[in-house]
Amino acid sequence: MNIVLLGIQGSGKGTLVASLEKELEFDLISTGQLLRDEVATGSALGRHIKEVQTSGNLVELDTVLKTIQKKLKTSKSKNYVFDGFPRNLEQAKEMEKICDVDLVVCLNLTQEVALKRLLNRLTCSKCGNVFSKLRVKSNVCPICKGKLEQRYDDTPEGIAKRFEEYFRQTHPLIEFYKAKHLLIEVDANRSPEEVAEDVLRAINERNNKK
Ligand SMILES: [Zn+2]
Repeated sequence: MNIVLLGIQGSGKGTLVASLEKELEFDLISTGQLLRDEVATGSALGRHIKEVQTSGNLVELDTVLKTIQKKLKTSKSKNYVFDGFPRNLEQAKEMEKICDVDLVVCLNLTQEVALKRLLNRLTCSKCGNVFSKLRVKSNVCPICKGKLEQRYDDTPEGIAKRFEEYFRQTHPLIEFYKAKHLLIEVDANRSPEEVAEDVLRAINERNNKK
C-alpha cells in the first residue's frame, strides 16, 4: 500500500508518521532523506545528485523519480508512506508512471493554528529535532544538548507566505486525488492522537476493500 501525506508545516506530519510506525510496518519515503541516502551510496545516480546539489540547483524530477524507483525495487517493504512527494500536479502525474497510490491523507490546518504552533517551535541547530517552547524550559536540546533556535522564517509574515505557496501548489494536487477517490481530509487542528486514529481507520478501510 502506498500512502501519500499532504500537509503544511506545523500540520503534524512528523508526529503522525511516528504514531503510524507503532501500528503499521512501512518504509518512509521522504525525498530529502532519500536523496541524501543515495548520495551516501556513491552510486552513479548519487554522484549525479551531489553534483546538481553542489551547484545549488534543485534535483530534476526525473532523477527524483529514478531514486524513488530504485528504493521501491530494493526495499522489501509492502507499505510505503511518501512525505514531501509529490508536491505538485506534475510530480503526481509522473509518479503514477512508476507506482500506484492507494491513499492520500491531507492534514488540514487553519492558518491561525499553524501560526500558533510554528511561533512556538524551536529547532535544534545540531540534531534538527523540533520542540515546542511550551515543553522545553531552556534553549538547550534535551536530546543532544545542541542550541535550540527559532527558524528565521518562522515569523507571522514568513508563515503567511508559506501558507499561500503551499495552497497554490497543493490545491490542484488535492483536486487530482479527489477525482480519483483517493483523498481523505483530516482535521489537523485536533490532538495528534485524534489525527492518528482517523488516519489509521482510513488505512484499515482501504486495506479491507482490497
Ligand atoms: Zn539536538
